[in-house]
Amino acid sequence: MHERLLSVRDLSAGYAGVPVIRGVNLHVDRGEVVSLLGPNGAGKTTTLSAVSGLLPALAGSVEVLGEPVTHKAPFRNARRGLAHVPEGRSLFFDLTVGDNLRLGLVGPRPGRRAAMDRALEYFPALAPILDRRAGLLSGGEQQMLAMARGLVTEPRLLIVDEMSLGLAPIVVERMLPIVRRVADESGAGVLVVEQHIHMALSISDRAYIMSHGEVAHEGPAHELAQRSELFEASYLGDLGDAAPS
Ligand code: ATP
Repeated sequence: MHERLLSVRDLSAGYAGVPVIRGVNLHVDRGEVVSLLGPNGAGKTTTLSAVSGLLPALAGSVEVLGEPVTHKAPFRNARRGLAHVPEGRSLFFDLTVGDNLRLGLVGPRPGRRAAMDRALEYFPALAPILDRRAGLLSGGEQQMLAMARGLVTEPRLLIVDEMSLGLAPIVVERMLPIVRRVADESGAGVLVVEQHIHMALSISDRAYIMSHGEVAHEGPAHELAQRSELFEASYLGDLGDAAPS
């Protein structure tokens, strides 16, 4: 029996009351890595924001860890075990690496040290630069820090929005497998938005392809990886010609 960590049903969300995503259904189970793919503007970030409670649902529902998400108190989702690593990293650039990490720490003091150590095990390159200001880090180091800050909360559901933004493909190749490790080792469910389609599919169990604010296709990652026509149609804006999944 799979433990459902995220359940999104018929979700519509958008800005100023105007929906940009409609009828989105998706789920993430314990230990799963799930990719949310699709061209620019398809609605991936909007979906993640509604999942985290940063944006209100205009219709439908989002359940995180068995409880409905309310956008009025997104911190409650964080307390329950949801970590959202947003696009653009949103670090505190004037604070040190260590202080950025400490801001993510919750729970009793002895457990905090262990949580920090575990996060640094995934990103050992951060350990020697804990005293450096986050604003002085390279793009890759900043992304590692953003991920590590998500991990120090010991999330049960980790949401990662375009970790590869602005990074060299070789850095992405090193970072994406860490997401897989987190899911395998901690049992967390992970939902990733990623533009590097094949790298994302290679570390995912399942994937959803969004187009024009809707989920156009979904399936096991290894099957979708064989269906380049779906991606061509979706990313080139011609889904009508693609075979249904
Ligand atoms: P990308 O891959 O380029 O990040 P995306 O799939 O994440 O794109 P979203 O960022 O969710 O797409 O945007 C979906 C649509 O919502 C786009 O048409 C975008 O212009 C619009 N949108 C995004 N943010 C806002 C906002 N704050 N106010 C109004 N419209 C917005």
